[in-house]
Amino acid sequence: VTSIDALSALLGAASRLKLPVLVLGGGTNLLIDDRGFDGLALKLALHGLFIDEDTGVINVEAAVSTSMLVEQTVALGLTGMAFAAGLPGSVGGGLAGNAGCFGQCLGDILKEATVVHQNGETERIENVDWFQFQYRRSRLLETGAVLVRASFVLPQGDKEVLREESDRNIALRRRKHPLPGAYTAGSFFKNLPPKKLGEHRIAAGFLLDQVGAREMSQGDAAVFERHANIVINRANASCRDVLRLTDAMRFRVLERFGAHLEPEVRYIGPSG
Ligand SMILES: Cc1cc2nc3c(=O)[nH]c(=O)nc-3n(C[C@H](O)[C@H](O)[C@H](O)COP(=O)(O)OP(=O)(O)OC[C@H]3O[C@@H](n4cnc5c(N)ncnc54)[C@H](O)[C@@H]3O)c2cc1C
Repeated sequence: VTSIDALSALLGAASRLKLPVLVLGGGTNLLIDDRGFDGLALKLALHGLFIDEDTGVINVEAAVSTSMLVEQTVALGLTGMAFAAGLPGSVGGGLAGNAGCFGQCLGDILKEATVVHQNGETERIENVDWFQFQYRRSRLLETGAVLVRASFVLPQGDKEVLREESDRNIALRRRKHPLPGAYTAGSFFKNLPPKKLGEHRIAAGFLLDQVGAREMSQGDAAVFERHANIVINRANASCRDVLRLTDAMRFRVLERFGAHLEPEVRYIGPSG
């Protein structure tokens, strides 16, 4: 979908026909059922990007790659996005799932946005409270509204400091994550809520490590050897293999710690 008008028309038609809709950003956080998706799948191709170096105002369309956007802000010395250096996926998908790392999330820095609602109506959202950002959640995922444009305002900072932060974060990803191009959707489970207010979340990978998850596999679906919360497709894994493996991982953690792991990867079945 290359224009907001086309998106509006398609969403409006799907709503009248009662067709389920699946919006694809980069597709880096999805697990699609082996039976496929029986509805209207939209791949957003809205790639506009405008950065005003002097004011730090950034207007970006949904399909722009998050890591490319971050790289541009770092190169211009605009401060506040380097935490997300190397984060896979698109700006739209990142805001829909309030993606984040190192204690910060994309929703924290959003200033304004435009969305197209399920009925095809376009709305400019000036008060970002509308999004109800939470850990890996936003109102976009609840309502099926599609984010088409986002605005950020970043202050000028020190280019060298930003470059160091960005390089450090990318290096950490290279050490802990599968290489770009590997078949994976990143961390499979969400981290658990902190035990006490003010404490950090409990990393799902920390619990999974203690139940020997790194040794686990099912067909070609396997736990990544350097990160117990990442599942990879070694070659020809089916969705069923991944679900069997992740059910077994979840069960081990429940049995040992009494903790319920919730998927962070979004499973898409035949009707959404
Ligand atoms: C190696 C690896 C490392 C990762 N590391 C992290 C990490 O550190 N932190 C983190 O949070 N995530 C991480 N992820 C997960 C993923 O990269 C992020 O969640 C990313 O922001 C998803 O963006 P996407 O465009 O690929 O979304 P998609 O996978 O295409 O979609 C995800 C969800 O968002 C919806 N969506 C997509 N675009 C829009 C839109 N424009 N409007 C409304 N809804 C939309 C989709 O319908 C779907 O429900 C990682 C993934 C990989 C593979």
